Amino acid sequence: MGEFELIRRYFDRPIPPRARQGVDLGIGDDCALITPGPGMQLAVSSDMLVSGRHFFADVDPRTLGHKALAVNLSDLAACGARPLAFTLALALPEAQPAWLEGFAQGLFALADAHGCALVGGDTTQGPLNLCITVFGEVPQGQALLRSGARVGDDLWVSGSLGDAALGLQALLGRVQLDDTLLQQTRQRLECPTPRVALGTALRGMASACADVSDGLLGDLGHILERSGVGARIDLTAAMLSGAVCAQFLRAAGQNDPQALALAQQCVLAGGDDYELVFCAPPTRREDVQQAAQACGVPVHRIGRIEAEAGLRVVDAQGTPVTLAVRSFDHFAR
Ligand code: ADP
Ligand code: MG
Repeated sequence: MGEFELIRRYFDRPIPPRARQGVDLGIGDDCALITPGPGMQLAVSSDMLVSGRHFFADVDPRTLGHKALAVNLSDLAACGARPLAFTLALALPEAQPAWLEGFAQGLFALADAHGCALVGGDTTQGPLNLCITVFGEVPQGQALLRSGARVGDDLWVSGSLGDAALGLQALLGRVQLDDTLLQQTRQRLECPTPRVALGTALRGMASACADVSDGLLGDLGHILERSGVGARIDLTAAMLSGAVCAQFLRAAGQNDPQALALAQQCVLAGGDDYELVFCAPPTRREDVQQAAQACGVPVHRIGRIEAEAGLRVVDAQGTPVTLAVRSFDHFAR
């Protein structure tokens, strides 16, 4: 199978009606053409997944197709943008039909769920590497930025944190989980859900927002830096109630210090959660809860923005929590 046969067979397909909005020209020419709606700004983001670094080479291709797009849609969600289209740059060691079939299925299932069209890309032979660029639209001036946090704002996160990181630790053989927990954490790691509806619902409500890809402390750190503020996080039971981390802790015994340290590490600095961390004035608490409920995504208030620079994490007793690693960094030594 040649390069163009591969593109035709797995990636070039009629764009479903729901995903046609804004797309004037898709795959097949030198460029795709996209027109955002009137009064809209184009939101653009790229994320690359490298075999052996972001995923195991033998991962199910269907979940890989899902995740490659999900991590990109998560960036649009963090800006409050609605997905329009995406491109896929793909390096493959060889053209294996079963692998490509599964990959395309996972990719298009998520794309269709968000009405987002694949409009172009590049295909080359080489070590397995996937780079997706997404294009979304957001009303002019309404994008959620990292720079808008204000002293006194509440600090919120969506969903639950730490489960994906716990799953990774289990897959690496560093912690034992029973079969049910392993399956659940693996699902969170390999099949993240981008919070697109919540992101758009938070427009005009959240003062700042980011998605949690490298770990809460690191990603929140970017908001604090850009906004010129500090924050305090209350690591209460609610934060450790992440569906799976909580069960893990219960199974290990709440007072097992090693298990507690691992759970805290996963929740605060694990990464791969693809939840949203955002700030909003206390006057908007009800609005935030209602918006989240309408999207079917739970949100938790986890702290507050403060004038004092830096990030302070305290437990339920008010004792500072210290961590071995605060954020994932590819070039950290
Ligand atoms: P060019 O050489 O002009 O850059 P190509 O010949 O590489 O374009 O690609 C032909 C068409 O197929 C283009 O429209 C390109 O966007 C699209 N394409 C290539 N690879 C992919 C892919 N992996 N997924 C989707 N579209 C692709
Ligand atoms: Mg060209």
